[in-house]
Amino acid sequence: MSGQVQEKYEESQLYKIRHSAAHIMAQAVVEMFPEAKYTIGPPVENGFYYDFDLPRNLTPEDLEKIEKRMRQIIQGKHEFHKKVISADEARQIFKDQPYKLELIDGLEKGGLDEYGNPLKEKPEISIYQHDSFVDLCRGPHVENTRQIKPDAVKLMSVAGDYWRGDENNKMLQRIYGTAWENAEGLKKYIWKLEEAKKRDHRKLGKELDLFSVSEDVGPGLILWHPKGAMIRVLVEDFSRNAHLQNGYEWVFSPHIGRSHLWETSGHLDFYKESMYSPMDIEGEAYYAKPMNCPFHIEIYKSHLRSYRDLPKRYAEYGTVYRYERSGVLHGLTRVRGFTQDDAHIFCRPNQVEEEISTALEFSLYVLRSMGLQDFKAYLSTMPEKYVGDAADWDKATEALRRAIDAHNLPYEVDEGGGAFYGPKIDLKVKDALDREWQLSTIQFDFNLPERFGLRFVGEDGQPHRPYMVHRALLGSMERFFGVLIEHFAGAFPVWLSPVQAMIIPIADRHLDYAREVTKKLRTDGIRVEVDERLERMNAKIRDAQNQKIPYMLVVGDKETESGSVALRLRNGENPGPVPLADFVARAKKDVEAGN
Ligand SMILES: [Zn+2]
Ligand SMILES: [Zn+2]
Repeated sequence: MSGQVQEKYEESQLYKIRHSAAHIMAQAVVEMFPEAKYTIGPPVENGFYYDFDLPRNLTPEDLEKIEKRMRQIIQGKHEFHKKVISADEARQIFKDQPYKLELIDGLEKGGLDEYGNPLKEKPEISIYQHDSFVDLCRGPHVENTRQIKPDAVKLMSVAGDYWRGDENNKMLQRIYGTAWENAEGLKKYIWKLEEAKKRDHRKLGKELDLFSVSEDVGPGLILWHPKGAMIRVLVEDFSRNAHLQNGYEWVFSPHIGRSHLWETSGHLDFYKESMYSPMDIEGEAYYAKPMNCPFHIEIYKSHLRSYRDLPKRYAEYGTVYRYERSGVLHGLTRVRGFTQDDAHIFCRPNQVEEEISTALEFSLYVLRSMGLQDFKAYLSTMPEKYVGDAADWDKATEALRRAIDAHNLPYEVDEGGGAFYGPKIDLKVKDALDREWQLSTIQFDFNLPERFGLRFVGEDGQPHRPYMVHRALLGSMERFFGVLIEHFAGAFPVWLSPVQAMIIPIADRHLDYAREVTKKLRTDGIRVEVDERLERMNAKIRDAQNQKIPYMLVVGDKETESGSVALRLRNGENPGPVPLADFVARAKKDVEAGN
């Protein structure tokens, strides 16, 4: 959660409900295990947790019992009471709770809150009590337990977690729960979780034969299978054409560069831990590229540029390699090698406003074309440590802000959250399950033009420093593909479907006609396959449906005679027989409309 969202959340009734549910859960656990040592239990994004030091491991049956007891406590309409106390009083109350004593020490010294997070001011020490349970807590809570709906609370799972996240400390048991304002909210949340599991791109990637990761190739390195690659080709072609129409020039650059380049760019100073070890070529160190920027800069530098040449917009599908620990790798969304739809804009200072605005417009256009609709912008501003001139930063930040305003995007400001080299806009997209994914970035850079000594000759005949903007639109093709798979649950729009139509002959005698139809549709630009297996028609239909193929065209005696196809759709609809020409028209219309 971003800062502003977190603040709003902390003021909400839902936050109080979850925090109170955590206390109620702790009460139920302590009743079950009187020797339990309890630590902390904050609300989190979709619920709450509490960490316990218990005499034995919890079982699913335990969770059921705890949940049942929680409902009873809720029904009891117990009031929550706050009391501000001294550190010594607190030590007396929690004398058998070593974790709480540690927390009280932290609170007394100042600097740490009850969760062990740093605080700006020395906090007061307070407790909250409801029924028989007392916790060291600064709240806030609901007024009484009945303000929680008993059918809107659910315990989700138990996981191991080290005290204060430090593996040298004792392993605790963390119970995760979720709580909502009403039963409807809980139901919706559970639905989303189940749907997310069904849509998991790793699962669908296998079922639909889109991509894989091979242990022999190495973790975090993606193999695009023909169907996945087909989608990527379609996305790339569409986007490349759009780039060319919007004044970008396409470039290509190598995968490795010598160490001198990365020294000049500063990557070996501040990005080295994300780069792989160098390879030796004739006694010189070469690194696989973690970013494309220095290459595009070298293209810019290959000529003396005049103010008349600017802006220059270089775009590339540039494959980069970045080190990620094997433990954090995840399908397509966290990988070690990926391809960015990267571009760098070099412009005069007085062009930057328009460049930013059109870059944002262009991002929105391409993302909308991919079927994504719900956007939010995040503006990151100047941090304490920065390079360049503060006045330039202000100008750049205002240009970003005006671009967001001009496009009527909801946005949040991350004050001081920019990189040291420039302010930026991140564009996040909400998918079909309301999950936010960060895709586009428009990032100023006051650092690299300086480091590489970039210039252009101005109207005054003098050398000037150009402005530089990094811009990725879909971000990484791998990650974007993962988002796309989950957003559409594998049922891609017709224009992106690797196989758009599956022809299903009822019997062997219809094969010739099926092949004829295939040929005809292919010349019309429709991606089509014939299911020639010796399976029953219903099995073939089911398989095509499972493969999320938009159209199934069943052909039997009647269709062969009349030159038609019996159309079925992947959602189960059954429009029935249509002349072949009508089907082609319909498919073309769907492609056009982005259906
Ligand atoms: Zn609390
Ligand atoms: Zn860049």
